[in-house]
Amino acid sequence: MIEMDRRINLTGLSQAELISFVEEIGEPAYRGRQIFAALHHRRLQSFDEMTDLPKALRERLNETATASTLTVESRYLSEDGTRRFLMKTYDNLPVETVFIPEEHRDTICFSSQSGCPLQCTFCLTAQLGLLRSLTPGEIVEQIVIALNDVYGVGVATPRGTNLVGMGAGEPFLNFDSLMKAVRIMADPQGLFIVPHRVTVSTAGVVPRIRELATIPDRPNLAISLAAPTNDLRDELMPINRKWPLEELLAACKDFQATLKAGERFTFEYVMLDGVNDSDEHARQLANLLNRHDLHARVNLIPHNPADPLPYQPSPATRVEMFKSILESKGFRAFVRRPRGRDIFAACGQLAAVRQHVGLRAI
Ligand code: SAH
Repeated sequence: MIEMDRRINLTGLSQAELISFVEEIGEPAYRGRQIFAALHHRRLQSFDEMTDLPKALRERLNETATASTLTVESRYLSEDGTRRFLMKTYDNLPVETVFIPEEHRDTICFSSQSGCPLQCTFCLTAQLGLLRSLTPGEIVEQIVIALNDVYGVGVATPRGTNLVGMGAGEPFLNFDSLMKAVRIMADPQGLFIVPHRVTVSTAGVVPRIRELATIPDRPNLAISLAAPTNDLRDELMPINRKWPLEELLAACKDFQATLKAGERFTFEYVMLDGVNDSDEHARQLANLLNRHDLHARVNLIPHNPADPLPYQPSPATRVEMFKSILESKGFRAFVRRPRGRDIFAACGQLAAVRQHVGLRAI
């Protein structure tokens, strides 16, 4: 259970848990359903706004519980419409969320941890280290805050929302909280964002990939590769020393065997100029995936640069060549368009950056 000043955060409870909570304080079950809808469907962040609850109950709730533990510290608007939210937890740790408008629907990129314990050399978040894992309520509230900011409190989202767990942190090192948040957000009486609309990305925590393979209502899976050999991957993503490519790809193959119609499974490959982007690397990657009988599509992500990182993005022609080599070997490869680079909102740029020259706060 999540506490703030010893108060329980109701945003992190499932509808069933919320019903038990109100029954424990002597209220009828329907009050639990009412509060759940107020938090997740109407997206209210305080009990005082729930004017359909008796005043005495609202006061009681204010004493024992909370509806919100995150505060927005700053917001940044990119020239491409992307919004980055820099939030703070009750214990003053940074949480970042990115809203990305797209042609057909919107995507919200949420964080699973404040900071990150992995030491990927191309990612700015690594420089924060792990501050702590986020609670289910803190994961859900990021989505509530982003939707309210963009559409207005409680206003229906006209184009539907996809979620990606690709913000700060390693989601699979916070697996239980992540999965609980996914279940809460799927509730038709709440946000109603079904797991099918959610993608979580892992740097390769093998036991949790295997666990996800056994879960029926699960989010889509993406695996960050970044290198086709253990030597290079050890260097770029030190987690590879714990779970090297053979183990990771064996787990991926078993996962692939459990895929159901409509589920998406992808690999991500950040393109670092002169480091992992040669024709030879492309051939090695294709051979590696072939050897493990893996057919998932490969998303190529041009590196998003940041001052303290020692890399440059691969030139567009290099990315295209890499892509065509993968395609010639039978793989589906896509180049991901960077979004929100100007406001430090792109992949690997979330590091609580506040004062950057020309950053447009809104
Ligand atoms: N820890 C998880 C989720 C966060 S990273 C994971 O590793 O998958 C989300 C994606 O951003 C990963 O695929 C990662 O490889 C990519 N990424 C990290 N830093 C980047 C950068 N500077 N430029 C482009 N992509 C980056």
